Amino acid sequence: MNKFEGYRCSICGAEYLPGQVVYACPRDGGNLDVVLDTDSIKKKFQAEDITSRTEPSLWRYLPLLPVSEPAGDSTPLHASGWTPVFAMPRLAEKLRLKHLWLKDESRNPTASFKDRASAVVVTRAREIKAEIVVTASTGNAGAALAGMAAAVGQKAVIFAPKSAPQAKVAQLLIFGAKVILVDGTYDDAFDLTVKAADEFGWYCRNTGYNPFTLEGKKTAAFEIWEWWIEAHRDWHKKDSGLDNHPPLTIVVSVGDGNIISGIHKGFKDLLALGWIQNLPRIIGVQAEGSAAIANAFHAGTESIAPVSANTIADSISVDLPRDGVRAARAAQHTNGTYITVSDDEIVKAIAELGAQGVFAEPAGAAAYAGLVKGTSLGAVGAEDPVLVMNTGSGLKDVRAALQAVVPAPIIEPTLDALKKLL
Ligand SMILES: *Cc1c(COP(=O)(O)O)cnc(C)c1O
Ligand SMILES: [Zn+2]
Repeated sequence: MNKFEGYRCSICGAEYLPGQVVYACPRDGGNLDVVLDTDSIKKKFQAEDITSRTEPSLWRYLPLLPVSEPAGDSTPLHASGWTPVFAMPRLAEKLRLKHLWLKDESRNPTASFKDRASAVVVTRAREIKAEIVVTASTGNAGAALAGMAAAVGQKAVIFAPKSAPQAKVAQLLIFGAKVILVDGTYDDAFDLTVKAADEFGWYCRNTGYNPFTLEGKKTAAFEIWEWWIEAHRDWHKKDSGLDNHPPLTIVVSVGDGNIISGIHKGFKDLLALGWIQNLPRIIGVQAEGSAAIANAFHAGTESIAPVSANTIADSISVDLPRDGVRAARAAQHTNGTYITVSDDEIVKAIAELGAQGVFAEPAGAAAYAGLVKGTSLGAVGAEDPVLVMNTGSGLKDVRAALQAVVPAPIIEPTLDALKKLL
């Protein structure tokens, strides 16, 4: 485990040893980056040692993670990550893009991207022998923590706003977590969780507060890297004039900003290892009603002013993003940008993805809605190869999904009635 050297504050740059801090920077509350000993990793591993592994989960990247192998070997905790990438030729044509793919995170064990973070945090919790893990959540982070914890018999406590979609609350309860619904917002639940963890000595998974969530989320970047090597090889077989194509553009929805920061961190790790030469472009998409990071990005400042969040996309409905600074940098340092979308555009995107066989929850579809807008605004060009992320399953919020379609007709069960209808 000596590959894990400690932490570095993303604001003041202070460095800490693994045992010195647990959550944020004690000086300024900045998000902590996990520091890995890339030199010793580089000595032990070549890129091919990773890409030739057969493990079909995020644990194929164990040498690049600050935890050791979780105990047991065939639980849902071991099935997080390694999600499929689908080609989207019809949507590409519609948007006049040459190449468009979608990485479908709804296929994680609890049906959202959050499983990546929770798998790694639960593994960390076992290592430090935490009795109880707690998180605040709009729903998915909690479902992921509850599910991953249940998989290995770890106790979990979840705080969520009472407005969380029913399916997400059902997941929390079914996974056997202690579920406490807060009469307030996600931000209220977040603050209460931090206080409760302090008071009762619980291990807190809160997004953007616990440094290990980012380490789990960065594995999506590793998967994109591996997939891109293959996709590239395929291109070259078909057309050798592709050497000068623009870099890959990744489009992802943003609430607290931890997913986009995690993807950025994963690519930075690969750069530090010398396994890639350039970073892909990363574009963040926020709901117009929850756009604190996009606002700061376009104002050219790193000071993130809170908003009063209101959007159908509950998973990205956040007043004060907890990983806003790193999230803004993810776009800034990669020549990306931020795009905001309306709830109407999000609902429309649910239907458009559905017509391709992909069922996304509002926050998942928001990324595609952002891509649609990005192509019309010129932020994404026709030649740009684009990978859009779907971060969560539509089954988590069927009420929102039903807004995207016309209701099915009800008829008498007779041929006559059917003929009349047709
Ligand atoms: C959490 C979540 C997001 C946003 O991730 P952040 O780290 O909060 O930016 C997007 N989509 C879904 C489905 C999520 O659950
Ligand atoms: Zn600091």
